[in-house]
Amino acid sequence: MPQSDIAMLIETIALDMRSAPERGVLPTYIPPLADVDPDKFGIAVLEANGRMHLTGDANEPFSIQSISKVYALTMALETIGAPIWSRVRQEPSGNPFNSIMQLESERGIPRNPFINAGALVISDILLSHFGAADARRAFLAFVRSLVAKTSGVRYDESLARQEYETGFRNAALANDMRNFGNIQNLIPSVLRQYFHQCAITMTCRQLAESGRFLMMGGRVATETAQSVSARTTQTVLALMMLCGHYDGSGSFAVQVGLPGKSGVGGGILAIVPGIASIAVWSPGLNAQGNSLLGTAALTRLVHATGWSVFTPP
Ligand code: GLU
Repeated sequence: MPQSDIAMLIETIALDMRSAPERGVLPTYIPPLADVDPDKFGIAVLEANGRMHLTGDANEPFSIQSISKVYALTMALETIGAPIWSRVRQEPSGNPFNSIMQLESERGIPRNPFINAGALVISDILLSHFGAADARRAFLAFVRSLVAKTSGVRYDESLARQEYETGFRNAALANDMRNFGNIQNLIPSVLRQYFHQCAITMTCRQLAESGRFLMMGGRVATETAQSVSARTTQTVLALMMLCGHYDGSGSFAVQVGLPGKSGVGGGILAIVPGIASIAVWSPGLNAQGNSLLGTAALTRLVHATGWSVFTPP
């Protein structure tokens, strides 16, 4: 698609989204996220040829929350590899993102790395590998290595602290898994690692840049980053498609048809393999905790471009 068309298309979509009657609901269980302006809206589209298209609030940092699970899984696969699959499975959960139900019947082995329980196991794995003193630093360094200009890519310490103080469900998940022997580090360290990962702030532009390795089979653009293996890239994309939107993953696959990962901060990273890395941000969420207008915008973009992976070439 000619670049001028993409630029025009995302302008039109942003304009329409700004006048949409429904904006979704802000999450109240993480106090700072309830205070975000619900009218914020941004899109960034990075094409494989390096062209970046931006509209709306695409240069404003926001809390990426669960999109961080994509980077954590990538790091775990690149450092530990296949053994992680003895501690977390690769299956859709069909349950809400913070559900504790399956843990009981499945003896502390979470369904996938993108629900909270699975992401806590991945944080535990990173802690064991890098050590308590270095795991947080290593995680932030990895995310920064994926973007050209790192300014604003940081831990929102206040948000991480507030989620630590109020994240009782995540504490329950971690304790339950520890009871089954599937968490190895101290619970406070695991929670701190996980909440920090979620509390990273980035702009849509940086988010789209960070997805470049997923778009390009593991190849990265920045000098500071190492390439990621093609195997890791394919695994992460497959799980994004199957589990990236919690119990809304099926309808996201039907509507948008792209591997994507959402966060309760209202961001979504979606990848068109070989073609584009897309980031959208609109803070209001649907019933499954995924950005309402972000999903609507991606649906429009994909219909106009034919970018669904299920569209024949
Ligand atoms: N920090 C959030 C939590 O653990 C992340 C959830 C999300 O973004 O979906 O509840």
